[in-house]
Amino acid sequence: MSICSRCSSEKVVYKREISGEKLCRSCFIESFEKRVRKTISKYNLFREDDRIAVAVSGGKDSLSLVKLLWKIERDFPEASLVAITIDEGIPGYRDESLKLAVDFCNRLGVEHHVYAFKELFKITIHEYMNIYNQAKKDFGPCTICGVLRRRALDIAAEKVGATVIATAHTLDDIIQTYLMNILRGDLPKGLIGVRSKEGPIPRVAPFRLTPESEVVLYAYISGIPFQETPCPYASYSQRDSIRRFLTEFEERHPGSLYAAISSLEELLMRQEKETAKKFCRVCLSPSTSDVCRACQILGEILRINFISPLSPTNK
Ligand SMILES: [Zn+2]
Ligand SMILES: [Zn+2]
Repeated sequence: MSICSRCSSEKVVYKREISGEKLCRSCFIESFEKRVRKTISKYNLFREDDRIAVAVSGGKDSLSLVKLLWKIERDFPEASLVAITIDEGIPGYRDESLKLAVDFCNRLGVEHHVYAFKELFKITIHEYMNIYNQAKKDFGPCTICGVLRRRALDIAAEKVGATVIATAHTLDDIIQTYLMNILRGDLPKGLIGVRSKEGPIPRVAPFRLTPESEVVLYAYISGIPFQETPCPYASYSQRDSIRRFLTEFEERHPGSLYAAISSLEELLMRQEKETAKKFCRVCLSPSTSDVCRACQILGEILRINFISPLSPTNK
């Protein structure tokens, strides 16, 4: 018979494959939250008087993050929390998650703001898809969406006076990103999701050492309502195939993701000390080239916009 490794309860909800530990509901929640708190202090992700902008998409990861930060923030009276949702303009899909984000933040009493691609960049991802399908552009919708979302979040965070941006990227997401960079021939330039001194508003990922599967379980057993439908354009993304590969690999060899982040980041930290950083001349983010990839893509979008029959001025 299986019992909780910590409190001997007979209601085990989770077996942690790496350690063999079995946990009941309340021991799982406790250990999950403890790990996130430990991650925050290990990397000094927050300061006591931060105004934290948390990116909330309405999915399980981001709603779990806003709930956890809301709990943690109560211990720091000088800190404040504000939630931001970026509306990319994907009909149907975004409407559902937007409602979840609004309702959930309301329930917690967390200030919430929505910023739309349409207002910021004059184009929705849906409109870009039409251009992409007609003209076979170089950049797929997920690349464009990722770059625009990142920029939108920077703009939004600045508007609400945030001093740091918290995103719900999990251990899985971080490893995927490192791998995608490597597969593009682009060596990662530093640690993802930790506070760096340079560049725009720092971005931190409190779930950076937490596996995706544990975030899903946390959302599920804490009764967090989340959107389950994936983005309709997800199959266009390179990330999707890397995700599937990594998930399968981790299932067969538990602990691989954690091993990967440890070794990779040790290497990155060594390299960081040795090399002088260069910055993008447009957005001042660390970059190996004169203008970073994001700014190159943004330039392309602005150009499309100008000649696009879909832009409001040409209609
Ligand atoms: Zn227990
Ligand atoms: Zn740039």
